[in-house]
Amino acid sequence: MKVLYEGKAKIVYEVEGEQDKCVVYFKDSATAFDATKRAHIEGKGILNNAISSILFQLLEGKGIRTHFIKKLSDREMLVWRARRYELEVVVRNITAGSLCKRLGLKEGEKLKKPLVELFYKRDELHDPLICLEHVFLLNLADKKEVKEILRMALDVNRIIRGFFKSHGLLLVDFKLEFGRLPDGSLAVIDEISPDTCRLWDAKTGEKLDKDRFRFDLGDLMEGYRKVLQKVQGG
Ligand code: UDP
Repeated sequence: MKVLYEGKAKIVYEVEGEQDKCVVYFKDSATAFDATKRAHIEGKGILNNAISSILFQLLEGKGIRTHFIKKLSDREMLVWRARRYELEVVVRNITAGSLCKRLGLKEGEKLKKPLVELFYKRDELHDPLICLEHVFLLNLADKKEVKEILRMALDVNRIIRGFFKSHGLLLVDFKLEFGRLPDGSLAVIDEISPDTCRLWDAKTGEKLDKDRFRFDLGDLMEGYRKVLQKVQGG
């Protein structure tokens, strides 16, 4: 299969004879801090594919379009080919990460209402935080599209936060990417996994996401396995 795009954690392949679809392959590489910290973590791709597939199916069931078509194998997912917005949309429920660093806040404070932040998806610029005026200046999306993206991001938050909560996990924050499907509809693309979400055990507060790798908090696979077990109802 021809490679369309290779990122830090995934490879996207063309599907022969299927212009509208592609295959996402989940790799075992972990990166953090602008890829200055890297590691090979055997089996991570399998867990992220499994967790992302569950979450995409959940969203589809609740009427949110995603690029997910089906899980093909341990590491492969069949998806619709989408025209990607060059945006990273972060939704936060509890203070953590760059929000604390930037604004001098303490980690772990519950926000009165979910906070949505937009980042410009450009590696060479280190994905800067941008405001709406920048989105329009850079022609990343128009007013109507941004409104639709923000509404969908909050809907996704409501759905997956409730889902995680019912499985004993706190959804602290997460990153979404959006695209237009071949039929023109707005959809959640990329992945939703412990690589892109902060997830804490609701009882113990244990961090089960990529912060384990970022800050050497413990075995990453153990955290991701716990997330998968919980979302599978275990
Ligand atoms: N995130 C991501 N990809 C990025 C940046 C952030 O998936 O390139 C996720 C991250 O895992 C966290 C949320 O978005 O769940 C918010 O990240 P933050 O802005 O706090 O940045 P960080 O401190 O994680 O770099």
